[in-house]
Amino acid sequence: AKAEGRNRFHYFSESLQSIAIRRMSVHSDLRTAIKREEFVVFYQPQFDSHGKSIIGIEALVRWQHPSKGLLNPADFLDIAEETGLIVEIDKLVISAASKQYAQWKSQLPSFDNIKMAINISARQFKDEGFLPTIQTTLEEFSLDPSNIELEIVESELVQDFTIALSVINRLNDLGIAVAIDDFGTGYSSLSYLKRLNVQTLKVDRSFLEDVPTSEVSCRLLRGLINLGKSMELKIVVEGVETQEHLNKCIEYDADVSQGYFFAKPMIASDIEKFF
Ligand code: C2E
Ligand code: CA
Ligand code: CA
Ligand code: CA
Repeated sequence: AKAEGRNRFHYFSESLQSIAIRRMSVHSDLRTAIKREEFVVFYQPQFDSHGKSIIGIEALVRWQHPSKGLLNPADFLDIAEETGLIVEIDKLVISAASKQYAQWKSQLPSFDNIKMAINISARQFKDEGFLPTIQTTLEEFSLDPSNIELEIVESELVQDFTIALSVINRLNDLGIAVAIDDFGTGYSSLSYLKRLNVQTLKVDRSFLEDVPTSEVSCRLLRGLINLGKSMELKIVVEGVETQEHLNKCIEYDADVSQGYFFAKPMIASDIEKFF
């Protein structure tokens, strides 16, 4: 039993070691990536309540790694968050997405009232430079604050509620809308949510699982949409993968639908075919 215990410990420490090695190597690669601006922004279109016309675009970061190829957030975001490098990455994305927005606005004739959704880490809220960066970026590309919307995941918002409350208020003063991402997964109490001046709820895609086959899942989706509506928020349903999903979004009157049924995230030039 003793030997077994020692082996188990050995195994355990080895896996911890490999986690540590991955962390160190991704960490140092990320630093370089920020200096060399190896990040690419992909874009996913969002559709109106009938699922007919494009009304928004979400910017989603990718990392063009010199040897590993194109990496998804799942491959590096945890370490970027832990090390705080996410703050720099988000700024690069804000800048690239704003520049792209300005270009589309000047080139695409029907590019009107399109909102660009940009994901940010709640870590930005503790960064003094965040609000000035946003303002400078909007000015640099002559964007209106109403052109962009910032998305923050629900679970991060509740961690530092007081700070989130004040930064969101300041964003609102600047005319920038804020969305709560992955809504329904963050265990935030409704009394907290009520106090945040957000404009949009993005219902997490897990709520589309078993829709429309499960009656309970359908009612839960409808309930979440109605909850948001009773708070007078714009409701986005993400992860719409099938015609049946879209039908439910239409039936329950979601404002915006987004998902693989319409399109996967794509490079900027591919977005242009939607206009
Ligand atoms: P998210 O903000 O909830 O974005 C939606 C994710 O679901 C994206 O994954 C998207 O590609 C994927 N998706 C879209 N439609 C569907 C669908 O119909 N079915 C399924 N199964 N998936 C769908 P992605 O691009 O890998 O991003 C993962 C997460 O990384 C994002 O989740 C967001 O939280 C975070 N993220 C992405 N870009 C940034 C960024 O620039 N800054 C920060 N801080 N976080 C980011
Ligand atoms: Ca998002
Ligand atoms: Ca989400
Ligand atoms: Ca997510």
